[in-house]
Amino acid sequence: MDKYAEILLPLPLDTSFTYRIPKEMESRVAVGHRVIVPFGAKRFYTGIVESIVTKAPEGFEVKDIALALDDKPILRHPQLKLWHWIADYYLCSAGDVYKAAVPSGLKIESETFIEINPDYEPIGDEILSERESIIFQLLDHEGAMTVGTVATKTGLKNVQVAVNSLIDRGMIIISEKLVERYRPLRIACVRPEFDPASISEAFAKVKGAPKQEKLLLALIEMSGWQRPENEHKEVIRTELLKRADCTSAILLTLEKKGLLSSYKKEINRFAYDGSKTIELPRLSSAQATALHEIHQSWRQHDITLLHGVTSSGKTEIYQHLIADVIRRGDQALFLVPEIALTTQLTKRLQAVFGKDVIVYHSKFSDNERVDIWKRLLDTNNPCVVLGARSSVFLPFYHLGLVIVDEEHESSFKQYDPAPRYNARDVAIVLASMHGAKTLLGSATPSIETYYKATAGKFGLVSLLKRYNDIPLPDISVIDLHRARQTKKMSGTFSLETVDRARKALSEGNQIILFQPRRGYSPLARCRQCAWTPRCTKCDVALTYHRDIDRLICHYCGSEYPLPRVCPQCKEPAIETLGYGTERVEDEVTKLFPEKRILRLDLDTTRNKSSYETIVDDFSARKGDILVGTQMVTKGLDFEGVSLVGVLNADMLINFPDFRSSERAFNTIEQVAGRAGRREGQSGQVLIQSYEPSHPLFGYIINHDYLGFYNHEIAERERYFYPPFTRIIYLYLKHRDRGLIDRIAREYGRRLTDIFGQRIYGPERPSIERINNLYIRKIMLKVEVEASMKRVKEILREVYNEAMQNPMLKGLTIYYDVDPF
Ligand code: ADP
Ligand code: ZN
Ligand code: ZN
Repeated sequence: MDKYAEILLPLPLDTSFTYRIPKEMESRVAVGHRVIVPFGAKRFYTGIVESIVTKAPEGFEVKDIALALDDKPILRHPQLKLWHWIADYYLCSAGDVYKAAVPSGLKIESETFIEINPDYEPIGDEILSERESIIFQLLDHEGAMTVGTVATKTGLKNVQVAVNSLIDRGMIIISEKLVERYRPLRIACVRPEFDPASISEAFAKVKGAPKQEKLLLALIEMSGWQRPENEHKEVIRTELLKRADCTSAILLTLEKKGLLSSYKKEINRFAYDGSKTIELPRLSSAQATALHEIHQSWRQHDITLLHGVTSSGKTEIYQHLIADVIRRGDQALFLVPEIALTTQLTKRLQAVFGKDVIVYHSKFSDNERVDIWKRLLDTNNPCVVLGARSSVFLPFYHLGLVIVDEEHESSFKQYDPAPRYNARDVAIVLASMHGAKTLLGSATPSIETYYKATAGKFGLVSLLKRYNDIPLPDISVIDLHRARQTKKMSGTFSLETVDRARKALSEGNQIILFQPRRGYSPLARCRQCAWTPRCTKCDVALTYHRDIDRLICHYCGSEYPLPRVCPQCKEPAIETLGYGTERVEDEVTKLFPEKRILRLDLDTTRNKSSYETIVDDFSARKGDILVGTQMVTKGLDFEGVSLVGVLNADMLINFPDFRSSERAFNTIEQVAGRAGRREGQSGQVLIQSYEPSHPLFGYIINHDYLGFYNHEIAERERYFYPPFTRIIYLYLKHRDRGLIDRIAREYGRRLTDIFGQRIYGPERPSIERINNLYIRKIMLKVEVEASMKRVKEILREVYNEAMQNPMLKGLTIYYDVDPF
């Protein structure tokens, strides 16, 4: 009897698909295995087996599985279950989750290649354009490749036209090939080719050649060749050469003499075996009490919030909790919101846990991610995984503890593409599926979390003093209006800020300057006629980046030259206005020419190690001033920083969103927390603002989290915002500007028919076009207790029905659940 498998494909489709399992594959097709299946006209995808069934599906022709890739599952329980939870809760497909969860090196896919038609027979002389003949010759020499590779190799723009013409004439053909992207790392090893009994004969062969003798000796020692076979060790070629102090020419000579042979060995890139350098830190009595309270709290609440002010020593408490878990033989997940944070924490954790620390985030190459995945899949040993949000998808064996540090951070939320999930909330669900405990940590808990903690849904432990009783930093607000009126400004800095900075630097301290925007100037404009360059694909002004002398759209990434002459009035009157981090860096350089300045933002951290270099350099005092965006505000621990400047607080406060106060309070309190983290050094924070009397500053100056919380939670309740309701945004996108409003209204009407008062909008978002798609937004507020699965079903019904309407053709919709 035939067997069939339900296969999940990495596509945004709502169902899985049934394929027949060919007899010879039966032993290799099981739940969690990867299989390659045909889909659509020509494509092949790597799918995951979700279940095996014996009943043949009816109503369509069933295709066969093309290839079974695995001998054992690449997933572990409860990963599939978690994917489905995410798909239901965040209103996307399980295929979307699969796509995001599994590194692409594990998902072999077919790609479209072009190659010379083997049946092509030239008739007379075919007349080719220059481009066509370049492409034809390239394919003739190098064989099949993708159109993209053709473009890179030839350096030609728009190769597609020439390619199409060659296809039309039958000179080249299209083919689908499966492409395996994962490349295991192989290292060269060496082994002796004689048995221990004939050692003296071996040495006879190198007599009179001292270098060869030395190499042979080193090889015997390193390989343990004289010992019993099961004690032989693998000898890495480079290590052997180093030990014998020889060149590879000598090694080749021995190889020719038949004394040794070389081979390649596949290794895991992360077989790191660093050793522990320190013991677990001794906790202060306040920390020890908090630790005890956390254990107590977990007896009643699987999820507990640790509200610990900045520099209270939360990390040390985490280390103790992780040590417990490892001792018990379980695994721990330590989630942080930002890759920049893994740098410092990796060192702090490795010092205590050595090789049991595994780091994972999106800056790793795909090969590296596959290796980490495999390493976890192969081990049932205790370990701690430190990572950014995607680490919730790893194949854990058995989690005993999940820590979410800086749980209030919006960067736990993925905006684009689907799944638009909050890794903090997914981590909580993951922990519960493993029966593990969760600790959420923050100096400024999110309003939702603190509400749950005080309402008894989560446990709550507070640690409201800094480690060593160091005082919290002293915060003052500088009135920019007054400073401007009294001419006490220097560029974007008030003179007071400059003076305090000078003083801090002269005392040998470091400074952090926080500017929310990157680039040089967020705006360019004509002085004569006020013309402003805008993105042609998005409704936004362009940001000027001086280091590349170009205007960039921060939404779609398009670049444009900065016009020297105004295209509207033809005057050479283009100026750039406002401040981004690049310009702040520039001004600081002028103010303090003898100081070393580092910048931390998206532009300076494009490659994998740049975060680490900047953070390490600043830690090692190779910089005096660190300028940066939000990246500098999160849990970094620098000992030399005495002053923090928030250069533009108004941008944070005046954001049209129900979370803007919360975000502004958290961001400022967090960046302030970077100041004065060591004994004998008082921390200072200066906030520059045009609205110094804004009530938010009162709470910030007094480090009054509770006061702020009480104010904010009352507002949320009054206006019926989270945590008193759950918000889902529906984004509607369409190419046609003339149609989008009609479509959105029509769609909103259908939703209102079902959801009634729970629907708000449609409204025009502040940026109403991105990448040539016009956007409208509809808000759905649902009761907290509502089943998201049911909401999803209803939304799908509305969608399917609406799509019957020809007017809505070309409409794209996506959902953002619990927007942050
Ligand atoms: P938080 O994560 O709460 O902001 P950290 O864990 O970074 O605070 O601690 C702040 C500083 O105090 C760190 O440099 C840390 O090494 C030090 N520290 C905290 N607790 C201890 C301890 N028990 N023993 C030694 N140093 C500690
Ligand atoms: Zn002009
Ligand atoms: Zn754009």
